[in-house]
Amino acid sequence: MKYCTVCLQPDTRPNIQFLENGICPACNYFDKLKEVDWQERFEILEDILGSYKRGPGKYFDCIIGVSGGKDSTRQALWVRDKLGINPLLVCLSYPPEQITQRGTNNISALIENGFDVVISSPAPGVWKKLVKEAFLSFTNWAKATELALFSSVPQLAIRYNIPLILWGENPGLQLGDMKTLGRTGYDGNNLRYMNTLSGGGLDWMLETGIDPKHMIPYQYPTPEEFKHHNLQIVYLGWFLGDWSVANNGLYSAVNGLEIRIDSVENTGDLAGVSCLDEDWVTLNQMIKYYKFGFGKTTDFVNEEIRFGKISRDQGIELIQKYDGCCSDEYIASFCEYIEITVEDFWKQVHASVNSELFDVTKDGKILPKFRVGEGL
Ligand SMILES: [Zn+2]
Repeated sequence: MKYCTVCLQPDTRPNIQFLENGICPACNYFDKLKEVDWQERFEILEDILGSYKRGPGKYFDCIIGVSGGKDSTRQALWVRDKLGINPLLVCLSYPPEQITQRGTNNISALIENGFDVVISSPAPGVWKKLVKEAFLSFTNWAKATELALFSSVPQLAIRYNIPLILWGENPGLQLGDMKTLGRTGYDGNNLRYMNTLSGGGLDWMLETGIDPKHMIPYQYPTPEEFKHHNLQIVYLGWFLGDWSVANNGLYSAVNGLEIRIDSVENTGDLAGVSCLDEDWVTLNQMIKYYKFGFGKTTDFVNEEIRFGKISRDQGIELIQKYDGCCSDEYIASFCEYIEITVEDFWKQVHASVNSELFDVTKDGKILPKFRVGEGL
């Protein structure tokens, strides 16, 4: 395990490749942003939007997937108020057992802000079964439901005949998942190759015995369907020089976004602005930390280092303190939902800990072998 020499990105992130000088692709991208002509990029965006502008009889110019969180709230407001276009917002709703009141309030706030929102809710029984199977087979409860989150947007773009999809972050440039890079910095049609979407396929879901017709929400449209319907995903993050967790959170909070009041010890979330609509992504971030040696705190700290808001040493301290944190309450409510004991939860987590990176002690503690910032 090696760390980027500028930020605290480890090379254990799936699909990442550091540059020869030991710098991670996200830092390299950020460094190049200094030379970017933002006005030029804004004009490129205006051209793209102009070419997709709604014709007669059409009401929407583009479609945006929203969770009611910081990124989607910022995107929706920005494209409507700054660019004067009319987006249809699509929200894939968590089932009643999972969604938080805060999440519901944030979607309501978008509707009250004057947006049209289509809410898609996959059958809760199938969802629950897939969450349980994914956790027991991969120690990643979100393996199927993330597919539904991503798929709902192009699926509804096809259904509503709106070819332009605006997406937020470019996972290739902004996180380092290089398989997603497209023809240009804003072309998002390779999003399908990101680690989340490309691993595993549907086979394991079919093996659960769920009727294939209930799997429709979990199927990302094929490249042929994209072509047939002329779908184009455009990353908005490429056009916004100040795209970051903290900035999007700030922008959205002043526009009515309800944020978390949890302690950082409960969530590993230093800004309190992520995963507002449910609580179990936090436990998945904890598990991700035990699998790859980095979690939510690392992602946040890296952005702050690049923006010069904190030093690398300060970042190390924060990561050591908070990465992998998750409230016992969230673990308990998750176990109750998928009907397993907390003991079984930990048995499953312990079995999936990356033994190259961590030791599991006899009393169940998981201790890193690596040093943050130095590696192994
Ligand atoms: Zn870096």
